[in-house]
Amino acid sequence: MSQFREILGQSHIVNHLKKAIRTGRVSHAYLLTGEEKSGKRMIARTFTQALLCEQRTADDEPCGRCASCIRVMNDAHPDVRTIAHEKPASIRVPEIMNQVVSDAYLMPYEAAHKVYIIPDAHLMTVEAQNKLLKTLEEPPAYARFLLLATHAEALLLTIRSRCIPLSVRALEDTVLTDFLMRTMDLSPYRAKNAARFARGNCGRAKALAKDESFELRTRYALQMMEQLGESAIYEIHDRLKEIGEQSEDERSAREELMGLIRLLIRDILVYKATQSREHLILEERWEYIRDVALHATYRDLITAERALTSARERLEANVNAQLTVDMMLLRARDTLKRT
Ligand SMILES: [Zn+2]
Repeated sequence: MSQFREILGQSHIVNHLKKAIRTGRVSHAYLLTGEEKSGKRMIARTFTQALLCEQRTADDEPCGRCASCIRVMNDAHPDVRTIAHEKPASIRVPEIMNQVVSDAYLMPYEAAHKVYIIPDAHLMTVEAQNKLLKTLEEPPAYARFLLLATHAEALLLTIRSRCIPLSVRALEDTVLTDFLMRTMDLSPYRAKNAARFARGNCGRAKALAKDESFELRTRYALQMMEQLGESAIYEIHDRLKEIGEQSEDERSAREELMGLIRLLIRDILVYKATQSREHLILEERWEYIRDVALHATYRDLITAERALTSARERLEANVNAQLTVDMMLLRARDTLKRT
């Protein structure tokens, strides 16, 4: 069962939604933005459950026991529609027409509201958005729309202007570590390791914590970085390949590696400024970090960081991935070598 109090670190959203329900001023449409796996669906589901609950608790939580709560939890409530789509990368006109537009004018079966959840709203084609817009402009009194999107810019301004915007925030590493320790059976090291690579994303932290080979991959990648200065390019290739084989796919292996290098550079800068291992994220590699901090200048480190950023941009633009990573490693090599 989902409860507002279980939603990690999003009090600005939770308080807003609870208040709307409590005061009976629930907007017709909300646009909830946040990365993949950042918890948008959980928020939407909890809100829906609370909105339709027959016995809400004194602190505005859904009771989790009434017929309505149980149906929402089982995806079986006749007045809740979660919009499905056939093509993985787009939601098209017929889907919006059949599942939203023509359905919205049919009265709810049993609840006071009818709730439409569009989990991948950013995938709607412009034409599909225009169809939805008409319903959003003149919604039936009972209809509520929850649009979930990775980024608001994918939606037409006219759609956005009809929605209350709510944005999921990145979580602090310590919040994620605590959460993982509380909900999963993990060693403190493993929880911390998953949290620091999750970039504030709860779903990603959980996935990494469950991933048996993740710790090994991080260790390999750190070793590779430490030996970067002494390695020939073919050795780097072999190492990258080894890491890739441990990973779900090449793309996520590359993203992980980039994330790790970013943390390394960040730690070297921190060590340089503080001369202490206290605030390092990759604390277990503090000796290497200290050695690099000793010889690398701020200018070197900032140049390495720029190389990383531009590599990321090139990867997003689908430029030859292997070549991009090679170039980035070559450019960062002198800065990140040990002596
Ligand atoms: Zn209930």
